[in-house]
Amino acid sequence: MSRTASADVLVVGAGLAGLHTATLLARRGHDVLLADRRRRLDGAIRTTGIFVRKTLDDFALPPECLGPPIRRVVLYPPGLRRPVTLDSDRDEYRVGDMGPLYLAAAREAADAGVRLALGTRYAGRAGGASLLTGPDGATRVRARFVVGADGARSAVARDLGLDRNTALLVGAEEVSAVGPGEGPPTFHCVLDPSLAPGYLAWVVDDGRHAHVGVAGYASRYPDGMRAALRRFAASAPGLRGAARSGEVERRGGPIPVGGLLRRISCPDGLLVGDAAGAVSPLTAGGLDPCLRLSRHAADVLDDALRTSRPEGLRHHDGAALRRQFRGRLLLRGGLAQVRTPAMATAAFALLRTPPGRAAARRVLFGDRSFPDPHPDPAVA
Ligand SMILES: Cc1cc2nc3c(=O)[nH]c(=O)nc-3n(C[C@H](O)[C@H](O)[C@H](O)COP(=O)(O)OP(=O)(O)OC[C@H]3O[C@@H](n4cnc5c(N)ncnc54)[C@H](O)[C@@H]3O)c2cc1C
Repeated sequence: MSRTASADVLVVGAGLAGLHTATLLARRGHDVLLADRRRRLDGAIRTTGIFVRKTLDDFALPPECLGPPIRRVVLYPPGLRRPVTLDSDRDEYRVGDMGPLYLAAAREAADAGVRLALGTRYAGRAGGASLLTGPDGATRVRARFVVGADGARSAVARDLGLDRNTALLVGAEEVSAVGPGEGPPTFHCVLDPSLAPGYLAWVVDDGRHAHVGVAGYASRYPDGMRAALRRFAASAPGLRGAARSGEVERRGGPIPVGGLLRRISCPDGLLVGDAAGAVSPLTAGGLDPCLRLSRHAADVLDDALRTSRPEGLRHHDGAALRRQFRGRLLLRGGLAQVRTPAMATAAFALLRTPPGRAAARRVLFGDRSFPDPHPDPAVA
């Protein structure tokens, strides 16, 4: 016999999207249950944690959980010869210390009144209730709305009959502590389809941590993703082998790059974050989109709860926002076509020209972010 529970909103998944949505709703007085299958939120991390300037400007992230600002990006062709260095006169990126950052977000959620159930898996829906299995067994949760914040392969999306991600990259990285380097904090990106087919290999060294990673289309890694990461780590630019010390943390996971999904809500609930495909198809950045879309979701849910009008959830409309992704989807299509090191080398020649550098600066240092359903952050 399973137990029963109730809530105004059940949020499945306590990544950044779920934590943010749950906290905003609880602050408005709603009863929110947030369930995650992970037992600890500072384990099994799936992101490098690079936050872009616009996110840092618009959202209050705890400064003690952010690494030093990064202003330099170095782009490399296959073979690593004659890289292109781009320096910004502004702080462009900061890498989150993601374990402490998730824990701080969970404390904020609990302070707002969110009931957090860890080690608790969403197992499906039956008779209008959601089934959770946790340390104390099975529970049937009756919630007015369900939020799928359960990542790229969302089971909530499946059960609500909403759209699901089909275009996915997979990425993996190793993180280790480093001391301050001689040069400035730097983000190194390598365009080489034999290491990162359809995306990039990277080293981010901010003087506190070094992240070395690869991401690409799963079926196109010549000898598998792990082998690609091993090969890259053996000769990666900017990786100060001797300076890396202590434990190596391994991270990885899928990255949706098909653009925001069209159907991301129905009268029973909605999707946020990776579950909604809210990731830039070009840069594969998902942290800014998941915060912005969560803010919008919380507004829509708040309104529907207050007015008892579930049809209001239709304002959480992926099709409308998706139109603003056209350019980025086209560029993703272009990057996906770079299938051989020779093609990457040829494409890289364009990057060395003044218009190529200007375009790279626009992508890497531009002010664009995920299309904000809230142009005015004060609304939130
Ligand atoms: C290797 C890698 C590096 C990346 N680096 C960056 C970066 O530097 N900058 C950037 O902007 N973006 C980056 N991204 C993308 C970014 O990390 C994601 O878009 C973002 O973290 C998505 O947050 P989320 O809350 O939607 O999903 P997640 O963080 O994936 O959270 C989903 C949560 O749902 C839980 N869950 C799943 N299924 C269930 C279930 N059945 N029951 C209960 N709980 C469940 C999971 O345990 C998880 O905690 C990266 C992605 C990868 C894979």
